[in-house]
Amino acid sequence: MKLLTRMARSFVAGETVKEAIKNVRKLNEKSIMATLDVLGESVKDKETAEKAVSAYLSLLDAIPKAGINSHVSLKLTQMGLDIETDYCYQNIDRIVGKAKTLGNFVRIDMEGTPYTQRTLDIFFRLRQKYDNVGIVVQAYLYRTEKDVRDLNKVKAKIRICKGAYKEPADLAIQKMKNIRANFIKLSELAFKEGVNPAIATHDDRLLKWTKEYAAGNKIANANFEFQYLYGIRNKTFRKLAEEGYRVRCYVPFGTHWLPYFMRRMRERKENVFFVIKNLFKK
Ligand SMILES: Cc1cc2nc3c(=O)[nH]c(=O)nc-3n(C[C@H](O)[C@H](O)[C@H](O)COP(=O)(O)OP(=O)(O)OC[C@H]3O[C@@H](n4cnc5c(N)ncnc54)[C@H](O)[C@@H]3O)c2cc1C
Repeated sequence: MKLLTRMARSFVAGETVKEAIKNVRKLNEKSIMATLDVLGESVKDKETAEKAVSAYLSLLDAIPKAGINSHVSLKLTQMGLDIETDYCYQNIDRIVGKAKTLGNFVRIDMEGTPYTQRTLDIFFRLRQKYDNVGIVVQAYLYRTEKDVRDLNKVKAKIRICKGAYKEPADLAIQKMKNIRANFIKLSELAFKEGVNPAIATHDDRLLKWTKEYAAGNKIANANFEFQYLYGIRNKTFRKLAEEGYRVRCYVPFGTHWLPYFMRRMRERKENVFFVIKNLFKK
């Protein structure tokens, strides 16, 4: 287990708020913004959900106290979506409400397809009340084009990613080439009709497409951002920040890192090599 903890360190910014803030500060020094994620998901009891809510409420206080530039990202199954939808809504409402008073922003991550519709329903309900909440869409899902059109209608801030969960062929595109094509289609829709899209990928072809599309369509750097995951392709994103693009790093921390870490390991063989290389560096 000790070895696994050391391996997870490649993708996780520590177990405590203090460690996470220290890492965000280092990113901010390189002109990279952050979104902090208190790791947790698939919560089945109210006591654990309440702990997660408290962790986010105190994190929101800690951000301005530390003087760092960071939003927060969270998962609805961490807030009790498996317990009861309205209970989950009340929990997230407290977090977004608090963020609003502090001038901060909350991004709702997207989980597997059993949760897609309920996550969107909660988001649309929150959106009626708040402008400081955003959502994630997954380019591998067939349904996402319609979702993006609906989200654009309410001027929702969306993060576009490929999708990290194993999904069946009747719901999700399986070929990377086609997922990439859909990512581009969704990004165009978000650039044309949406608000400040976040392009969340480490894929060179998609990064290049975004830069060219923005330049070709005279989209100012202030009107979109690149997002990446802590530990992955640091140099690439540092360079984008140096070139003047808005760049935000997704910074997960906490003790419940195993499911997140396993998703990263499953995703790419490069990530496995990266973790092994880091083990020998330390
Ligand atoms: C900020 C952010 C937030 C996310 N939020 C969610 C979410 O809410 N829900 C969800 O389902 N998923 C989320 N994801 C994960 C996402 O869906 C993908 O699973 C993940 O980003 C991998 O896809 P990719 O597009 O980055 O590139 P990949 O398909 O993994 O890689 C494409 C190419 O990028 C290059 N590359 C990638 N990694 C490396 C590396 N380590 N070293 C060298 N080259 C590399 C290679 O050229 C590779 O061929 C998020 C991702 C990001 C960046």
